[in-house]
Amino acid sequence: MKNQLPKGYVQKDDALWLVDEESLGFHGSWKVNRLLHHEQTPFQEITVFENDALGRVLALDGIPQTSAKDGFIYNEMITHIPLTTHPKPARVAIIGGGDGGAAREAVKYPGVEEVTLVEIDQRVVELSAQWLPEVFGETMDPRIRPAYRDGNEWIREQEGTYDCIIVDSSDPVGPAQVLFEQSFYAQVYRALKDDGLMACQSESPFFHAHVLQKVVRQLRQLFPIVRTYLATIPTYPGGCWSFTLASKKWDPLTADLSRLQAHDTQYVNADVFLAAFQLPNYIRRLLAE
Ligand code: SAM
Repeated sequence: MKNQLPKGYVQKDDALWLVDEESLGFHGSWKVNRLLHHEQTPFQEITVFENDALGRVLALDGIPQTSAKDGFIYNEMITHIPLTTHPKPARVAIIGGGDGGAAREAVKYPGVEEVTLVEIDQRVVELSAQWLPEVFGETMDPRIRPAYRDGNEWIREQEGTYDCIIVDSSDPVGPAQVLFEQSFYAQVYRALKDDGLMACQSESPFFHAHVLQKVVRQLRQLFPIVRTYLATIPTYPGGCWSFTLASKKWDPLTADLSRLQAHDTQYVNADVFLAAFQLPNYIRRLLAE
């Protein structure tokens, strides 16, 4: 392992910490019991560390992405909401999602025939399989087909192909920045079937309000139905996290919730599904603009 500390890691007294300064005036700090892996790939710096509260944590360029103990919240909410809203999802694509958690939830839907996992960095998939079985699962379901490509390039080769596209990206920095742009969303729209829908993680409605506002504004220019929903994710700055679903036809608020595959979920259920779309006034006002 290299001598110098990875990006974001600082020694404080006799302990090592990961400090995430990506939110204005807000430091997220995670105590590093053990730094298990550190690697620079052509796309980003990957670290895996152990933390008392979260278990093993995957971080990219010093920003925590997912953890053994709370990864289920994000992965259930970014997957079960769109896959229940669409009445018959068969062809699914996940852009990003290298930790494997979203794909693992997607294949719980019996009608799903294939999940194309478009992840730019193969090492994220390999290291998640090695260090984060709680997220990745024991093995990769045969319906999951990895495509180690830039999602912004791959999407341009797709037209009218997918029932659901899930944009499970890292934050809008580095390789994921393009996945928050209008040109990318227009390609997602084109890649979807006539009744297709997409869902994306749309950042913190408090610390990244401008990002959420931009995502929703851009999606509203393309899709007739755009709905933001929330979940509480301890790993992420401030805990409150947003997702946004954009649909050509199907509305999550009228979804057939008997399709929800919640028999073994730890977060989502039919009540949470509907409640997640009930937005507090400050977010309603933010998205009304
Ligand atoms: N669950 C995490 C979260 O809550 O933000 C994110 C899931 S996953 C770790 C995010 C993935 O997006 C990373 O593995 C990263 O390599 C991938 N990624 C970033 N930019 C990408 C791009 N342009 N195309 C494909 N994958 C990309």
